[in-house]
Amino acid sequence: MMSTYTDQSAVTVLGLGPMGRALAGAFLDAGLRTTVWNRTPGRDGELVTRGAITAQSAEEAAAASELIVVCVVNYDAADAILRRDPVAAALKGRTVVNLSADTPDRARDTGEWAARHGIRYLDGAIMTPTTTIGTPDAVFLHSGPEELYRAHRPVLDALGGTHTHLGEDIGRAAAYDIALLDIFWTAMAGYAHALAIARAEGITGRELAPFAQGIGAILPPLFAEFAGDADDGTYSGELNPITSAVSTMAHVIQASEAHGIDAGVMRAAEGQARRVIGLGHGTDGYIRVTELLGRR
Ligand code: NDP
Repeated sequence: MMSTYTDQSAVTVLGLGPMGRALAGAFLDAGLRTTVWNRTPGRDGELVTRGAITAQSAEEAAAASELIVVCVVNYDAADAILRRDPVAAALKGRTVVNLSADTPDRARDTGEWAARHGIRYLDGAIMTPTTTIGTPDAVFLHSGPEELYRAHRPVLDALGGTHTHLGEDIGRAAAYDIALLDIFWTAMAGYAHALAIARAEGITGRELAPFAQGIGAILPPLFAEFAGDADDGTYSGELNPITSAVSTMAHVIQASEAHGIDAGVMRAAEGQARRVIGLGHGTDGYIRVTELLGRR
């Protein structure tokens, strides 16, 4: 079994965008010796006032702590920082926790690269906005070697919120992240579109918002119910068959196009529902679309 030495009093943060700054701020609040570095200088002003140490280079930052947290826009950016000789050499024997967002395959590729270079590696995803960091509302997902996760958990706890280790497959946190971002961005696309239709009908966003929040409140129990349906392959449409759902989707398309508003997102969703009906499943519930999408 791997033995993992950890210095739990120090941490390095590579990347000082809004999220990297929030992470570094939470580490400082927890009293950790926090070293920071960012590609573009000058993003560390407030952190330095609060006690952060600015490294002059990424390799100097990597050498400053046992645990290095990376939080940049994506893995192209993370690679540009990590996969250079002086930095990779400085990271040898240390632990990198990559909290940048990207795909599961990129996370697995980075995990393989880290193993080849003697770098201990955990991958993670942050599921909540910067304002939650350091508070009980923050949500972090992690994947990779469990012993490594346990060893660094005390430092990660300084970030507040809940931390969940999802398993040893290094891509698993990113896989959850992608699925959850799918929900978030299609919901946001729907909301942007709804606001545009409402405006075209003379309804302000503020007038619509309380009812939009009502729609949001319907979703959590439906998510739970449909998750079971998808896992079990049972798609009862007794209370709301897909033939009925598709009719209301068509209304959205008609009303929106009557105002010259692009209905592409709803057209795609309606098209998938119609294909399910065409396959003979019109009496099933909407979530049977999951089966259609999974067909090769
Ligand atoms: P961004 O996603 O805009 O990332 C900005 C950071 O990426 C900066 O440090 C920037 O450096 C760095 N960067 C970009 N390209 C490169 C490159 N080629 N080489 C080196 N560094 C680069 O801002 P955030 O801080 O908000 O997000 C960081 C990560 O956190 C992202 O993966 C995001 O998805 C995730 N996240 C963010 C949330 C949020 O609310 N902001 C919520 C949940 C997750 P420079 O200053 O030099 O441009």
